[in-house]
Amino acid sequence: MRVFLIQPHGCFQLRGITHPVCRDLMMSATFLKERGFNVCVWDRCLSRKDPPGLFEAEAAVIFIAQSSSVKDAAAVSDRLRERGIPVIWADMVAVIGAPLPDVMRHCDYILMKEYFFAAEALLHAIETGGDPRAVNGIAYAENGKTVFTSAQPLPDFSLLSPIDWSLIDVEKCFRRFQSCEKMLYLNASVGCPYNCAFCSTPLCYGKRRKRPIEHVTQEIDFLVREHGLDGVNFSDELLLFTDEELEALRACRERNGNAFVWGGETRPQLLTEEMLQKMFSAGCRWLLFGLETGSERMRKRLGKQYDPNRVRETVDACTRIGIATFGSFIIGYPDESEQDLRDTAEFALSLDLDAYLFNYYVYIGGTPLYLEAEAQSRVRFESIMEYDDVVNTDQLDTNLSGVSETELATIKAWFDYLTITNRKKTAANGAAGVQFLKKAINTVTEYLHGAPAQIPAGLFNAAKRAVGVFWYPLAHPEIRRKYDLHK
Ligand code: SF4
Repeated sequence: MRVFLIQPHGCFQLRGITHPVCRDLMMSATFLKERGFNVCVWDRCLSRKDPPGLFEAEAAVIFIAQSSSVKDAAAVSDRLRERGIPVIWADMVAVIGAPLPDVMRHCDYILMKEYFFAAEALLHAIETGGDPRAVNGIAYAENGKTVFTSAQPLPDFSLLSPIDWSLIDVEKCFRRFQSCEKMLYLNASVGCPYNCAFCSTPLCYGKRRKRPIEHVTQEIDFLVREHGLDGVNFSDELLLFTDEELEALRACRERNGNAFVWGGETRPQLLTEEMLQKMFSAGCRWLLFGLETGSERMRKRLGKQYDPNRVRETVDACTRIGIATFGSFIIGYPDESEQDLRDTAEFALSLDLDAYLFNYYVYIGGTPLYLEAEAQSRVRFESIMEYDDVVNTDQLDTNLSGVSETELATIKAWFDYLTITNRKKTAANGAAGVQFLKKAINTVTEYLHGAPAQIPAGLFNAAKRAVGVFWYPLAHPEIRRKYDLHK
């Protein structure tokens, strides 16, 4: 059976399929190929041109991992369905959006969280004329309503195989990052044991499940040998290796001539200096900490509590060892007060980070914060198409905080400014700020190499952000004073 697995185009997906959130597509493509399906992968971030054989496909699975790709997914789906090709939607946005009334106008089925065995059973039913409604773990439309079949348990990843990277043009997916010229997103686990009130991970990916480390190292061996991979950004929601796994990574590096380094996102309070030393020896050179807020009140509300002193200790230990640290914060939460923001600014300024990544809060359907706001009639998604516009965390969509937009914008701009002017020495040689400027320039370059229609919007966004970094703090010294924004 010939099946197309498609990544739709989204406004922020400038490069290829290995964007962090596309791992499910690659794992599923590998699984289905092994199960005997004739699998073709079409990455619309790389080419919008219809690939050969598209309209001879017997089914298509579209992985909507990013909100900004909903419209593209719908457009491709509509074209395929016009030709009688059954369309299955999968991944985060499809799962979150499944209860919305218009989703099933664009697809025939949705895979609800489990994209391997449910996909196989559904495709088999389509191929043999069986009854897809008997397949567990899917949604389908009946009499104008969306029907959900019984949940399919999430699989143990040891039942799967290492990802088959020959299914895509890996060279087109490499990105520059820190000291790396050929960095790729891989993953060693999926899901998260926590339940932060703003986050869709628990809803879409469930509790954390690890992939066998030998699968990960086999993939790295292949990618270094065949493609010169020099960096791995693990896209795990929570990157945490055991001593044995770190030893396997260290050995992998050694047999590959220490050709690659790696990093990822984790929680600082789970790390000790001893663990960080072992991580460094295994090649870890950067860590992202999702710190979200400096306000204890907000941390309680978000269900993300930690001891700020432990965070400071971990950041300092990373600096001593040679691991770059990026702290991610969210501002503009519903009902966030000026005092909450002051606490966040003060906390961020107390950390010796390499980069301060400030983003605006955006609502994600089904999360506790969304459900709370929906119950108060403050927000409600009526259509899956609305997701296409809400993804941009650089843009404030609905300000439900108790702080003015100008104040939020000034705080965000100030931390962008601190990031690009940061003189902290990094493991990647040079000042931390220079690394981020290089990253920004890379992004602009990618816009220039993107689809012609996207270039003006991409450049406009980049220019707007660049101007804002200087304009807001200069134009609003009173806000800088109010929030004690200093260097
Ligand atoms: S924000 Fe991070 S720690 Fe919290 S649930 Fe999401 S992935 Fe887990």
